[in-house]
Amino acid sequence: MVSTLLALVLAVVGTFSADLPGAVASTPPARAAAPLAGRIVVIDPGHQLGNSRHLAQIDRLVWIGNGRKPCNTTGTATHAGYPEATFAWRVAQRMKRRLEGLGARVILTRPANSTALWGPCVDVRGRRGNAVHADAKISIHGDGSYAAGAHGFHVIYAPDNGLTADTYRASRALALDTRAALGRAGFARANYVAGGDGLDVRSDLGTLNLSDMATVMVECGNMRNAADAARMTSAHGQRRYARALVRGVRSYLAAR
Ligand code: ZN
Repeated sequence: MVSTLLALVLAVVGTFSADLPGAVASTPPARAAAPLAGRIVVIDPGHQLGNSRHLAQIDRLVWIGNGRKPCNTTGTATHAGYPEATFAWRVAQRMKRRLEGLGARVILTRPANSTALWGPCVDVRGRRGNAVHADAKISIHGDGSYAAGAHGFHVIYAPDNGLTADTYRASRALALDTRAALGRAGFARANYVAGGDGLDVRSDLGTLNLSDMATVMVECGNMRNAADAARMTSAHGQRRYARALVRGVRSYLAAR
């Protein structure tokens, strides 16, 4: 009886609303365009977990545009042994989910975080996304300074000359937006990098040199510092990094 009555009420309501002038109840409202629809973001999670088991491969020299450097390095770790590669991978995964949720297409420079894998080399990382004209590249790292009290983040971009003269302005803009987003999220600028402004300019990194798009490398913190390490190894901390880095990318893309 109750169900019959309910069905009757629903039928009446349905008829009524369908009869309303201009009723669009049967047509879902048009979805607002996702804010990053059509954008391509390359995320480069630094190193690979298995690099230390493949030293012959990662020590091989590759051309980085202005010289030769090893294919890759093992990356650093916390004093307790938590690897930089795993930190970078987990932040990258969180960033990927967020960026895809905003409509962006995300390209990762490595497919997994595994002790069985090595690389890719820095030249491959540097060129990744060039062929599809990606809009921005962000390379995620953790630093390994043994200097007493060294902590905080810094954002690296390539200089206004040589290979990177054509991407300098865009990369600097991305660097400033990334620094601002990390600052707003409460992360401290590195106190051990020259200048203390949370920025560094380098011409010796293949990941930056060979990229045709706005590209930054973020040293999120110093894994050899206890407070930074605690932040970088916790799910909460990794979520905070990912959220801030995505905000930096969004700020950069919003202005373009
Ligand atoms: Zn690194």
